Amino acid sequence: MVTFLKQYQELLTKLKAWNEAYYLNDAPVVEDAVYDAHMQELLALEKVNPEIIREDSPSQNVGAKLSSTKFGKVKHEIPMISLANAFGPEEIREWEERVNRIIGEETKRDYVFELKIDGLSIAIDYKDGNMVRAATRGDGKVGEDVTENVRTITTLPQEVNVETLQLGSNFQIRGEIFINKSDFVKINEEQTRLGGTIYANPRNTASGSLRQLDSKVTASRKLDAIFYSLFPQAKTHTESLKQLEEYGFKTNAANNKVCKTIDEVIELYEYWQENKNNLDYEIDGAVVKINQIDLQTTLGSTAKSPRWAIALKFAAEIAETQIESVDYELGRLGTITPVANLSPVQLAGTTVKRATLHNFDQVARLGVRVGDWVNVRKAGEIIPEIVSVNLGKRGETQTIEVPVACPVCGSEVENEDVSYRCTNVASCPAQVLRRIQHWCSKGAMDISGVGPALVATLLENNLIKTPLDLYRLKLEDITGIERMAEKSSQNAIDSIRASRSQGFSRFLFALGIKHVGINVAELVASYFPDLAILESELLNNKGESLVKVDGLGPKIIESLQEFFESDTYKEFKALLQEQAELLDIQSNEAKQVGTRLEGSSFVITGTLTESRSHYEDLIKINGGKVSSAISKKTSYLLCGENAGSKHDKAEQLGVKILNEKEFHELL
Ligand SMILES: [Zn+2]
Repeated sequence: MVTFLKQYQELLTKLKAWNEAYYLNDAPVVEDAVYDAHMQELLALEKVNPEIIREDSPSQNVGAKLSSTKFGKVKHEIPMISLANAFGPEEIREWEERVNRIIGEETKRDYVFELKIDGLSIAIDYKDGNMVRAATRGDGKVGEDVTENVRTITTLPQEVNVETLQLGSNFQIRGEIFINKSDFVKINEEQTRLGGTIYANPRNTASGSLRQLDSKVTASRKLDAIFYSLFPQAKTHTESLKQLEEYGFKTNAANNKVCKTIDEVIELYEYWQENKNNLDYEIDGAVVKINQIDLQTTLGSTAKSPRWAIALKFAAEIAETQIESVDYELGRLGTITPVANLSPVQLAGTTVKRATLHNFDQVARLGVRVGDWVNVRKAGEIIPEIVSVNLGKRGETQTIEVPVACPVCGSEVENEDVSYRCTNVASCPAQVLRRIQHWCSKGAMDISGVGPALVATLLENNLIKTPLDLYRLKLEDITGIERMAEKSSQNAIDSIRASRSQGFSRFLFALGIKHVGINVAELVASYFPDLAILESELLNNKGESLVKVDGLGPKIIESLQEFFESDTYKEFKALLQEQAELLDIQSNEAKQVGTRLEGSSFVITGTLTESRSHYEDLIKINGGKVSSAISKKTSYLLCGENAGSKHDKAEQLGVKILNEKEFHELL
């Protein structure tokens, strides 16, 4: 029971040391991928055991002391103070009375009603029309410098045409960074395919994404931003909003409303309480501001918050329902997860029927039983969770038993930390299924034509038993299966064939070794580039060189060792040797650093067929530099479709313009 506490402690110590090294010495001691892998592990532990979260945990970034941040500090010249809250009509009327006491009831004023997006506040500075710095709120006085990560937000203009600006070319904008619900769903679908952590809600995911050490990871998360403040301010708040729009910044123009009375404000609040689920982003209420800046100045601020604005929050949504039964689901490592089947209940606009109980520790902690009435909350309104049991309503109930045998194959179950596992690693049908699905997944061998359902069908029809059997399938094997169209069968065969020669790091990840995620697999493969070398290191050298690799903890090495010594691996290896022609795994190579673009600087614009970060990598690997703004010193503009002002500017300055084809020729 205390093992996970020890693990938590170890992770904290490690992450804090890494943070400090990065921050104080400005030099990371581990690769970003390793940092992230450990951070994910920490977050997973904290998610399952929220009571262990310590105030000094790196995950607790909201209001955290910045002494241990991995980012530079930024002092807010204009403090980012937070708003006071009001819950419901009564409290908003009380706020109006407080306002009246200062400016007088008869003073004319407008109320601007804005939706309160559940994201992270950001302040972005522009100099000469170019974005120069972005900082988080932090404690309101000092925030973190997240400029590079904010640059990955594609809807954010990084330069503004200075000539059209009425307020000078140096200004600050403030807004909210968030992940759209539809993108969040896609991120979790992707995580499911990769066998990675499933994120609990868009807000925490946005926060984690913004604070990545690697901007490429941030870019992959599709952050979005909506802005609501501009400094220097115009005479009214609505004028500032209009200016923001004119400069090309996204505001919530469609939903921002000017109200003459508090009654109108309350009407809108009630409308959005009902309709918030129709939006593609999460809101937790509204912000109401006095429109006239001179009145804002008269009202001023208390020590904690401004008097001229207030956050009008929605009540949290919790529903009560009954647990009808509990299913046991098996993961690819045999871990058994209890999942509660609920009497369907309406929650935050959707019908909730299932909620995960995470593990049996969680079951014990909640004291929950089948038949219990429970409170279900939609955390971040995406994944429902059981928060408490209504003991007063307890009738006839049954204990949720820790399984003594695997619910699928009946084999013995073993216990490690908080999890229970089926020990029949080699042939438990549920584990075999999950393992082959994992083998085919995008981050592993990337066999896109063979989805989870097809793997199940192939197993049911005895067409495969191991992942290697996939490589012997013929077109007629698959078309022979009921309802398989010829086109999708061909697609399956083609993508199996294409995966034959994947790189070793993918193959290593595809093996599904405990604690060996994509990042760890890549790290291992960068030192031990093929199966023979890694096997010899583990079996002959007992992993002594692996220990020296920064970022590979004892748990990972132990797990690798265990796997390579296991019968499962020996059998797999024997099969692989018998049929050596099936696979043609490529050795990993250390990244080659070229010099072909040395001394050249690039600016990238427009829509390209590959991601921007792909081209940035290519340029950097070959010794070139990438910047965001064009000047006379720029050597090349890499220009995609729908290029805007940068194209014109490059022409004016005589900077050479390349399309993608010409860029590749240059390389
Ligand atoms: Zn089993």
